[in-house]
Amino acid sequence: MIELKNITKTYYKGTSAQINALDGVDLTVNDGELLGIIGASGSGKSTLLNIIGCLDTPDSGTYLLNGEDVRAFSQKRLAAVRNRETGFVLQDFGLMLDRTIYRNISYPLIFNSKIKSSEIKALTAKALEAVGLSARVNSKCSELSGGQKQRVAIARAIVNSPSVILADEPTGALDTKTSAEIMDLFKALNKQRRTVIIVTHDPKVAEQCERVIEISDGKIVSA
Ligand code: ADP
Repeated sequence: MIELKNITKTYYKGTSAQINALDGVDLTVNDGELLGIIGASGSGKSTLLNIIGCLDTPDSGTYLLNGEDVRAFSQKRLAAVRNRETGFVLQDFGLMLDRTIYRNISYPLIFNSKIKSSEIKALTAKALEAVGLSARVNSKCSELSGGQKQRVAIARAIVNSPSVILADEPTGALDTKTSAEIMDLFKALNKQRRTVIIVTHDPKVAEQCERVIEISDGKIVSA
């Protein structure tokens, strides 16, 4: 379970301008939820997602992950949260385009000390199967369509079996039909008891989430 209490994050531009990217956010996300986060550009959505995924730290407030205060986590524990407990999916896919599908998906396993090298092939195949791309393992990612690239990115995000998937505008670069397919994939992953949090501008994506919250100027304005 994810519990954020009175989280703030401020950026400074020059010496005077202050941007309250997050301004007292309270949010609880239960295990297995499918949560949508909407809001105008610059409202704080990515900052919130990065804090949830421990890629960024708040200036104040408390973040409890499964009841534990993230502030007390060692660097090693934070790295494990990033590598094994959460999986990130981004709008522009974030793939190594000159590498094969196999190489991209298996990459996070290299940093997981709990995985033996003999297990890597099977885990990669399992993640590929989950996104419906099993036949294309040796294709270079540069040869794939946008929808296929996003499937690879999702496979990479789930290869370590994280309990939480964090997606930042995952359908932003895709056409309507492909967006719907990718959303079906997130829903299927959610049915397998994973928590899925999706930042989106797309009303069609938001309407398929169990719960939608809206952020405006760093504050949750509807929940
Ligand atoms: P969103 O994802 O809703 O578009 P962000 O969380 O990316 O919003 O940004 C919230 C606000 O914080 C914006 O005004 C943005 O310009 C600012 N911001 C985000 N990251 C930084 C940064 N690293 N340095 C300075 N300002 C930032």
